[in-house]
Amino acid sequence: MKMPFVSFLAAGEKATPSPQLIIKTAGKCLVHQFISLEQITMQRKFSVLITLFSALLLIAAVASASLAQVTMPRISYRDRTLPNGLRVLTAEEHSSPTVAIQVWYKVGSKDDPEGRSGFAHLFEHMLFKGTRNMKDEMMDRLTEDVGGFNNASTWDDFTNYYEVLPSNYLETLLWAEADRMGSLNVDEKNFKSERDVVKEEFRSTVLAPPYGRFFYAIEKDSFAAHPYRRPGIGSIEELDAATLEDVRSFHSTFYRPDNATLVVVGDFDQKQLDTWVDKYFGRLSKPDRPLPRVTVKEPERVAEKRINEYAPNVPLPAIALTYLTPAVKADDAYALLLATVPVTCLPATNCSGSVRASGSTRGSWTVCAWCDSGERKETG
Ligand SMILES: [Zn+2]
Repeated sequence: MKMPFVSFLAAGEKATPSPQLIIKTAGKCLVHQFISLEQITMQRKFSVLITLFSALLLIAAVASASLAQVTMPRISYRDRTLPNGLRVLTAEEHSSPTVAIQVWYKVGSKDDPEGRSGFAHLFEHMLFKGTRNMKDEMMDRLTEDVGGFNNASTWDDFTNYYEVLPSNYLETLLWAEADRMGSLNVDEKNFKSERDVVKEEFRSTVLAPPYGRFFYAIEKDSFAAHPYRRPGIGSIEELDAATLEDVRSFHSTFYRPDNATLVVVGDFDQKQLDTWVDKYFGRLSKPDRPLPRVTVKEPERVAEKRINEYAPNVPLPAIALTYLTPAVKADDAYALLLATVPVTCLPATNCSGSVRASGSTRGSWTVCAWCDSGERKETG
């Protein structure tokens, strides 16, 4: 563990520190979804129950270990790469007549251009707009109208898109995923409409909630040099400053077959699937330009640093301590994951820990607490 780095957000009112609450959640757009205080209380109670339940399960497992050896079935999968660089991972599983399709692009918020934060997230939205062959929101029609579903999420290191649907629609969705990889309409109309949607997300998830700015500050202040310091949701000013040319350049730089992995799992015939993948994805060309990669190294922390921030709609002071950790792929990441259990689940500590996933460099470990004066103010 390195020196702690403290981010502190206080309300205008003086409060007697009596730490009570915690926890940050993540959802579809990871950087945007946080839970309310009531939900936090519920979640803490729930986490205590989970701990007790887990302990009982552990005791039961240890007691029965001598009776039966549990073996996990190995997943048999195929891994191949098309001539255009697209990696394809597939696993047949016929227990239900459904398939799951995922396309992962190696572009995340850390790849946002300097002064243009929010681009990776903007493209998560834009990929649901029209293409050369599909009208706007067609991906929803192709999935939801046949009983399936789809979604996408933007992370620091990657952006992923997925669909789950009846397996007889697999070919249609492979065609659709290839179509939006190769012929997305990056035009003024789509850019402006999705930029407005993202700006509204910023207002509703960062500015409006009492602790929206708190989590924004944790992201912004936990890294000194690495682009992880730029919150993935961006900022109104930088989104407003973006031009269509910036957006087109970002798209052509990162959305390409040799920067993507297609994953298909479920009820399909491998030979038939290979034929469809070759037919629809194989025709996409691999650009000549090299793929830029982030090489910035986050410097070691040599001293504690404290930051205070204030906001008008914060009912109670809150505090977060963050530590630099090894990257999520390092062996020590497992030990850190385990370390979150006692911090998260011991009610007496009144705080919570979470390991931030980071693939290419290092992560941060955050402990947060709300200081409750006992007289909770309504936020209006
Ligand atoms: Zn979003």
